[in-house]
Amino acid sequence: MNKKSGILTYDIEKVLVEEKDIIKRIKDLGRQITEDYAGKDLLMVSLLKGSVIFLSDLVRSIDLPLEFAFLTITNYSRGTKPLIRPKVGERSLDDIEGRDVILVEDILDTGNTIAYAQQWIARKNPASFETAVFCSKKKQRSSEIREPKYVGFTVPDRFVVGYGLDYAEKYRNLPLVGILRDVQ
Ligand code: 5GP
Ligand code: MG
Repeated sequence: MNKKSGILTYDIEKVLVEEKDIIKRIKDLGRQITEDYAGKDLLMVSLLKGSVIFLSDLVRSIDLPLEFAFLTITNYSRGTKPLIRPKVGERSLDDIEGRDVILVEDILDTGNTIAYAQQWIARKNPASFETAVFCSKKKQRSSEIREPKYVGFTVPDRFVVGYGLDYAEKYRNLPLVGILRDVQ
């Protein structure tokens, strides 16, 4: 158990990634992106809301001029019927044509969300296009995706919270990644 035992950490059954390891890993990713994108026109597109914490730490680990923007993908469901059609909402997104884009997402699970966002961005003809995910679940994907070039952590196929990832909109501010008690 994490040494910090605040209100939120009491609800955590198992810590998967400690705060210090998150900080270290994001610094590494930032260094890698700094090398890969020197001299390029970097635009980071973050999917709301889960990836906001990851984005804010990641951009501060990148030593290059860059811009970031936000995208919302809403999964509509009618009654008990499953997802009908995801809706992409643009949030302060400049034209991404000709830019070097990194899509930033919190977690890769089935791949459906990332597949949809990747197709949406690819249609806008960026000069280059990669994906960064904070966590990737070890499992079979149900959608075909472009594999993320930047992956923070690989996690088991369980429901995880913290560092942007929520349970009923809570726990996003938990500075570590863990599995909740009594979920699943
Ligand atoms: P996918 O479309 O890949 O199945 O799922 C991606 C989205 O589902 C993520 O953006 C995230 O919002 C949510 N999600 C998937 N797995 C988890 C998880 O373990 N914990 C939390 N908090 N959200 C998840
Ligand atoms: Mg999400």
